Amino acid sequence: MRQSQLFTKTQKNAPAGEVSANAQFLTRGGFADKLMAGVYTILPLGLRVMKKIENIIREEMDAIGAQEFEMPALHPKENWEKTGRWNKMDDLYKVKDSSGREFALGPTHEEVIAPLMKKFLNSYKDLPFAAYQFQTKFRMELRAKSGILRGREFLMKDLYSFHIEENDLDEYYEKAKAAYKKVFDRCGIGRKTYVTFASGGSFSKYSHEFQTVTAAGEDTIYICEKCQNAVNKEIKSETPVCPICGGKKFKVEKAIEVGNIFKLMDRFTKPFDLKVADKKGKPQMLIMGCYGIGLSRLLGTIVEVHHDEKGIIWPESVAPFKVHLISLGKGKEAEGIYKNFLAKNIEVLFDDRDVSAGEKFADADLIGIPRRVVVSEKSLAGGGVEVKKRDEKTGKVIPEKEIIGLIH
Ligand code: ATP
Ligand code: MG
Repeated sequence: MRQSQLFTKTQKNAPAGEVSANAQFLTRGGFADKLMAGVYTILPLGLRVMKKIENIIREEMDAIGAQEFEMPALHPKENWEKTGRWNKMDDLYKVKDSSGREFALGPTHEEVIAPLMKKFLNSYKDLPFAAYQFQTKFRMELRAKSGILRGREFLMKDLYSFHIEENDLDEYYEKAKAAYKKVFDRCGIGRKTYVTFASGGSFSKYSHEFQTVTAAGEDTIYICEKCQNAVNKEIKSETPVCPICGGKKFKVEKAIEVGNIFKLMDRFTKPFDLKVADKKGKPQMLIMGCYGIGLSRLLGTIVEVHHDEKGIIWPESVAPFKVHLISLGKGKEAEGIYKNFLAKNIEVLFDDRDVSAGEKFADADLIGIPRRVVVSEKSLAGGGVEVKKRDEKTGKVIPEKEIIGLIH
């Protein structure tokens, strides 16, 4: 893509009120724009990153046998009354139409998927079953101040699994946990992300959060120095020893919850009487697991982990483009290289704008594409083009014909 055609422009200064690194860089770089606290427009550069994240998650969900579908955001009040959450859930957005009819804006989808599955799951032969979606959620977040990390409207991947036997749920839960680890590894935050033991609330013994260590985190986790598993602050007081290995020394860190997996048991199947016939033909109440990842929060977390004072340093797997091609006055040569990249299907952002070299370099650092290729009088005199990774201090000049091989 030609940068001259990109409708967004970079900004020198962060907008007032944006304190977190993710909000500052994503706004200044033209990835996202704040409409109001906790509500963001995802701009073309940001959407490219979001789609990469979405595809990584999709591949890992498909690999554990889950089917993709999409549920509505507008829900009937009755379903939320059935589960008792219409009045109990503090962050539920409720809307009323002109006839006085009330609806919920979905903060999560158990109230939709459980009655849906009643129509399709009949027998033990249909199980185990798992389905997932990428969908916009709405939550009345009162402390929406961490940029894109805590939205009132945000994109989530939610997966739900259905089982008759608890050991079958346990098995699927472990599969989902392994898939989540792969997702965070592939998104470039694996090294900083800890599987965190958390209390299961009222319906199950425990749940797991995936917590990414960064100063911008709202949560506090205790990482076991022996086994590197973590426990959430809320259960720490009752569990002075690591529930996994018995270790007693913990490192305390601030972290962001990028994912959460939960055994819901029959909490949502019971209100909808979701039963199937077991092997003997007897109706059995199903049990459920639910597994969430906030994509917009994950995008912001990647920025929190991967940036320096000049801007973002995208991991290659989720970068909006693979290469940032910058032409400094040498339009013709750069045009040729650009066409070459396109012909080889290499995602390239081509800075063909008529602005100073300093401005181009500053924007490249801010936008954070992993590799920069500069075509200038100087580089051509030196025998080719200058190639530099975003996190390297200096680049090197290589012959023009070698760049495709280097980047592929
Ligand atoms: P938190 O404790 O941060 O409020 P939660 O426990 O309410 O999170 P879940 O209901 O488990 O979150 O939602 C699943 C995932 O969705 C979370 O792990 C997180 O990645 C994401 N998520 C939750 N709330 C938000 C939000 N307001 N904005 C962006 N992502 C969110
Ligand atoms: Mg919450």
